[in-house]
Amino acid sequence: MANQRKTGARGDLGRIAAANSVAVIGLGRFGRALALELMASGTEVLGIDTDEDIVQSLNGQLSHVVMADSTKEEVLRQLSVPEFERIVVAIGSDVQASILTSSLLLSFHPQHLWAKAVSDAHGRILEQLGVQHVIYPEKEMGKRVAHLVRGSMQDYLEIGDDFALVKTKPGAAFVGSPLGQLGIRSTYGVTVTAVKRPGERWTYTTAETVLGSQDVILVAGETRKAEAFSQLR
Ligand code: ATP
Repeated sequence: MANQRKTGARGDLGRIAAANSVAVIGLGRFGRALALELMASGTEVLGIDTDEDIVQSLNGQLSHVVMADSTKEEVLRQLSVPEFERIVVAIGSDVQASILTSSLLLSFHPQHLWAKAVSDAHGRILEQLGVQHVIYPEKEMGKRVAHLVRGSMQDYLEIGDDFALVKTKPGAAFVGSPLGQLGIRSTYGVTVTAVKRPGERWTYTTAETVLGSQDVILVAGETRKAEAFSQLR
């Protein structure tokens, strides 16, 4: 039996499910941060966890938070989970619970199912089950920070295989002349896609854009090339 705690005036699970909301299963550090961020950006969230203290601590912060075991099909049905189109399994170290939960959820055919993996083997099993989005938070964050630590990047986002967006400052050679005259794409294999001047908002660049030394730019390209470009001073 799911121990349901209504945490909002509108504690109707069916309605929440229909509102294109997200069900987050497992409210550890990762699931909790995810659920709260979704709430902050205006998405309703059903949170589920077996731990009473965790459920209590999120009381009132999510649209609905429930103490329940997600490895039990009747519990998931009771909570209208099959009606959710977007579900995240944020159970990590209990690999068995993660796999059982994901397998049950897949039988509901959600439009989007994300599941957190704590190891490559765990991720492979989730992929073999048919989970569309397998995420490796620790591994991905570790890789991302490695790129930030290595270079002069202010931010870094790898998009799929071997393609990245890098936020950095322009090297001196790229300041003061229109981008169209610098041949950046042909020489360095990257594109300066956007620029932020001090005190201004981000804008797209054009061939006429002239960068200043205090500008911040967004560079797109193959990971190594984008990284190498950001290191040119
Ligand atoms: P994090 O790094 O996000 O803190 P973790 O990798 O240590 O998490 P776990 O501790 O396995 O992952 O799980 C995260 C949360 O999932 C915990 O709060 C745990 O209580 C919850 N959880 C584990 N099994 C179940 C289950 N069967 N049903 C619902 N919640 C569960």
